[in-house]
This record gives sequence, C-alpha cells and structure tokens, in this order.
Amino acid sequence: MDDRILAMCELSNDLLFQKIPPERMAYYVDGALEAGRAAAGQFRGTDIRTLYQNSGIQIHRGGTGKKGYGVVLRGQATMSPTECSVEVYPDSIDELARHSTWEGRRLTGEEAMDVHLSHEFFHIWEYQQHRSIVEELDPVVSFTFLGLKRRSRINRCGEIAAHAFAKELLSLPCLPNLYDYLYLIDTEKMKRSDFEELCSRMERLLLGQSAQYAVKGGAK
Ligand SMILES: [Zn+2]
Repeated sequence: MDDRILAMCELSNDLLFQKIPPERMAYYVDGALEAGRAAAGQFRGTDIRTLYQNSGIQIHRGGTGKKGYGVVLRGQATMSPTECSVEVYPDSIDELARHSTWEGRRLTGEEAMDVHLSHEFFHIWEYQQHRSIVEELDPVVSFTFLGLKRRSRINRCGEIAAHAFAKELLSLPCLPNLYDYLYLIDTEKMKRSDFEELCSRMERLLLGQSAQYAVKGGAK
C-alpha cells in the first residue's frame, strides 16, 4: 500500500489539517517521509535493540498500558537532558500484533515491539540531534485577523517521519500506521469500508483526482 496515502491518513489527524491548502499536501507528506527514510539510512543494518544500547536509551517494560476511558497505550518516551527512555506495554503491543494480518502475514509480538521501539527511537534521535522535521517544514497560516497572520507547525509530520523511519529500518511491507488501522478494523472499532473511504479521500486530496482505494489483506 502506498506510503503517501498512509502518510495522508496520519496527516488527517492533525488539528490543523483543514488549514493545509490542498496543493501543499504533497509538500508535507513527501518532506516528512523523506526525513524518516534519510534518518533510517544512517542506521541500516543495525538491530534496533543495539541502537538503543549504543545510544544509552533505557527500555522499561510497563504494565498493561490500560489508562481508563478506553485509552490503551503501547508505550511512552521520556526525553530529558539527563535521561532518554521508553516505557513499553508488552500486553497492548501483543494485542496489536494479534490483529496485524496484512497480505496473509501477521507481525509476531517481537516484531510489533521492534516497530514500536523504532518509532520511538526516531523521536529520541531527533531530540538528541536537536533536529525536528516539524520545525524544518514550513508552518501553515492557522489564523488570520485584521491582516495579522498566525503561523503554526504541522505536528503530525513528526509522526509520519517516525513511521517512515520504522518502515525503512525494519524493511516493513507498509508504513506501520497501517497496523493501527488493521487493529481497529479487526477489533471492530472501525469499519473496513470507512478506512477504504478515508484512503480514497486522502488519495483524491493528494492527487487531485478521483480514485477508488481497495484495501487488501486483513483477517476479515
Ligand atoms: Zn510518535
């Protein structure tokens, strides 16, 4: 499945998505994807757990990740000048893995853990490098009043870059936010037809033409 469409799905979760002019969608999607891929290029061939060791990032295993109100966390990163660490919740990562079938193949729990660790590694790596793709990409005009313009950053570009980093580092078949959608579909929290409709809408927005997106794979 096309990285750019899945990146658009992620972008659509940004609070300022409606403020992005349609002709600028590709700028954000492609810029963020490229940042993640380029970062992964520096580390290719090195196991993600080794990268954590080499960078002095601790991995803590937490509980179930259930936080009430139906919120389930897979992990949380802590970034400070004195300590960078990631807390992971193996139960919810295993749960994601169980519902991750894509084109006849399912992630193992360990693979799903690696996806999560790679994603968080990108955020910590950016923090340690004092870099941020969110800051590097142009802001959008989020508010105009009496000729004054407020400009704001598109935060979800950091998520797109982290997905692209994980895909590239682990040679995944797709941008890993697809696994989140597969999980939602498989656990009946989202209809497959709604996801297909979202993909079609994102493709139309990105390419400026009508397109039908058929989502293959999945257990159902
Ligand atoms: Zn993230």
